Amino acid sequence: MSAIPIFDPQPEIDLLWEELNDAIQGVLRSGLFIMGTQVAAFEREAAAYLGVKHAIAVNSGTDALVIALRALGIGPGDEVITSPFTFFATAEAIEQVGAIPVFVDIEDRYYTIDAGSIEAVITPRTKAILPVHLYGQAADLDAIQQVAQRYGLYLVEDAAQSFGGEYQGVKLGTFGEAGCFSFFPTKNLGGYGDGGMLVTNDDRVAELAAMLRVHGSRQKYRNECVGYNSRLDEIQAAILRVKLKRIDEWNDLRREAAHRYHELLSTIGGLIVPSERECGKHVFHQYTVRLPEDRRDAVTKGLRQHGIGTMIYYPIPVHQLPVYKHLGITLPVAEACAREVFSLPLWPHLSAQLQSEVAVCLRRLLATETGSP
Ligand SMILES: *Cc1c(COP(=O)(O)O)cnc(C)c1O
Repeated sequence: MSAIPIFDPQPEIDLLWEELNDAIQGVLRSGLFIMGTQVAAFEREAAAYLGVKHAIAVNSGTDALVIALRALGIGPGDEVITSPFTFFATAEAIEQVGAIPVFVDIEDRYYTIDAGSIEAVITPRTKAILPVHLYGQAADLDAIQQVAQRYGLYLVEDAAQSFGGEYQGVKLGTFGEAGCFSFFPTKNLGGYGDGGMLVTNDDRVAELAAMLRVHGSRQKYRNECVGYNSRLDEIQAAILRVKLKRIDEWNDLRREAAHRYHELLSTIGGLIVPSERECGKHVFHQYTVRLPEDRRDAVTKGLRQHGIGTMIYYPIPVHQLPVYKHLGITLPVAEACAREVFSLPLWPHLSAQLQSEVAVCLRRLLATETGSP
């Protein structure tokens, strides 16, 4: 049996080889490497694709979150309600602007923030709700928007894992005052280096964000506030323009692969496969399944021994990371998920053959492990 990584970027690189080379060489020939025509064109094209007024490219998804929060005026003493079941960058960005992350448990079925638990943690210092569209699936946006509106809170979406994903036919990242994306190489829309972007329909947020990404200046050498050096470079923008053209096709291929896994795996007793919100379009940044804690670790170890890539996103919920241990809070659903989830190989051009190898291996491991034939 062949080794199967959790993610393989080579098929897409092979497919786009000529176009990527042309794009990169075009930048080399242009002599413009920072804030040139490629970044401007990518921002225009991404905004049009998402159906949003402004897109501001920055140098990472983390910076997109930091700059979005800063542009909304969120700072020291403010509280931002978010999910504990995410990559640390979500909470880190809140801390970077001096605000306090307030963690709310997640929905057992969809792994996104439990909208029904938000109201209970709102205080006079709460400024925003920051849901994460985890694994490529929308958070419960209707309910979240209702709470945000009732209490006059901003909505900032962490859409780092869900470029092209939808909720009620509308693209994720465009519901709130700001939406944030990452172009880290493994993401749905990934570059070949770091990159990120924030989008907004608010002219003022767009203007401030554009200023913050270049040292707080609208005009060169006329700095108005303390900002960041956080720009997407021209080569990454040129690469992302090539890949943006395929995003729908490739997200559909991810969905097809996920549905093939569903066929292969949903009959395995004890294994929980992903649930898709009916009103959404899940773009399967990850295909994440779940087993009771005592079986998960043996099975993931077995998969790795058979050369099958698997990862746990995320093994420790954010509120229990060493940096937040002192908070001493308990969020049982996120904690259970962290003990039970694991992700399987998935990329747009993953073959049905490799998927059935993954399924066969998983079935065998579960059979040996429970002692049944
Ligand atoms: C990847 C990711 C980020 C951070 O993006 P970077 O580009 O790596 O800085 C933030 N939030 C989530 C949910 C992510 O998956």
